Amino acid sequence: MAETRTPPARPAAGTRADAAARGTTALLDPHLLLCESCGYDLTTLPQSGSCPECGADRAASSPALRVGSPWQVRGASPMAWLVEVAHLGPHPGRWRAAFGRVRVDWPASRSLLVASVVLASVVAGVGFALAGMWLTAGIAAIVGPLLLHTLTAIETVGLRMFGRQRSWRITSDVAWVVVAHASPAWVLAGVLTPVGSLVGARVLPWVEVFIWPVPGVVSGGVIGFLAGMFVFETVVFFGVRRCHFANLPSAGSVVTPGSGTTAHG
Ligand SMILES: [Zn+2]
Repeated sequence: MAETRTPPARPAAGTRADAAARGTTALLDPHLLLCESCGYDLTTLPQSGSCPECGADRAASSPALRVGSPWQVRGASPMAWLVEVAHLGPHPGRWRAAFGRVRVDWPASRSLLVASVVLASVVAGVGFALAGMWLTAGIAAIVGPLLLHTLTAIETVGLRMFGRQRSWRITSDVAWVVVAHASPAWVLAGVLTPVGSLVGARVLPWVEVFIWPVPGVVSGGVIGFLAGMFVFETVVFFGVRRCHFANLPSAGSVVTPGSGTTAHG
């Protein structure tokens, strides 16, 4: 006699509920090919068609689309830095597309972060020197790279925590690649800090006397720095939104022990 068996209800493979059921680390496997829109595991699915979870074009998650940022493609050079900035552009509307091309490749991105924090510090130092604030100029040039690198490192910790809360795949490499590609914005902080100090010294003395007992030159510098940092944070926000399920160049083609996935794509 035929017996109808209903399989026990379990979340569809690749969904966040499934990941939660198996332990959230399941979808953190950097080698899985995920839908870059929703994080669904596409590893064993055909290469054409749509994501079963969100309906996004399956091809849009192809690692081949992450051809590399200008810095990753051209290698480290002053021209590559300028092209990187021009590519990112001043308009947030372009950032999503720009981060869609970024390759999850930290070794090829590290020098972009170093170049940006050093350049930002040199720019700040020159700015303070032009303003005749020689001591501040020296401090900015020497302490700046360490300070900016530390703030950037803290940002990666925050991104990974943020990602874990949302079941995003923000690996260490993804976090560092995103902040590295946002790091040119630190140069804006390098410009705005001495400018803020100069402006603050002129327009903030009344604040210093009546409202806030800090010299205007300091308040102005801090405000300028925070304005630059805000731009950095905004670029990071757009970057992480576009890279929260970013696939490695080899994603989907590597057998991952325990995941049941096989060579594919
Ligand atoms: Zn999807």
